[in-house]
Amino acid sequence: MTNKDVTKEYRKRLAALAAQQTGKAANFEVLPDGDHTWPAENPADVTLKGMAALRYRQILDAIQKLDSGVYGICADCGGAIDKERLEIIPEATSCVDCQRLNERKARADIDMREESSFDQLM
Ligand SMILES: [Zn+2]
Repeated sequence: MTNKDVTKEYRKRLAALAAQQTGKAANFEVLPDGDHTWPAENPADVTLKGMAALRYRQILDAIQKLDSGVYGICADCGGAIDKERLEIIPEATSCVDCQRLNERKARADIDMREESSFDQLM
């Protein structure tokens, strides 16, 4: 495959993902009675909706990156994202190393928040 073919292939996959994601997002928004508010106050549902919205934005970002020729470049370290990773997650914005680091940081943030709320209880 030439580079152009690869770009075309990813664009096709990303466009399909975007369509899938908007379909999901629409389902979240529209209630059976036609009301357009979020159906439940369930935090898990809200998280799901937020994740779908985030993923959709990442997919659009990836398409934009394809257009500007910077697709597959890690947003954090500027290195190349593994082809294998892009095969699985075409909208990935960072390489495996940075992703792992980010996840570790996010978890540390949560730990710190839990500790501080624990302190407040004492
Ligand atoms: Zn990186």
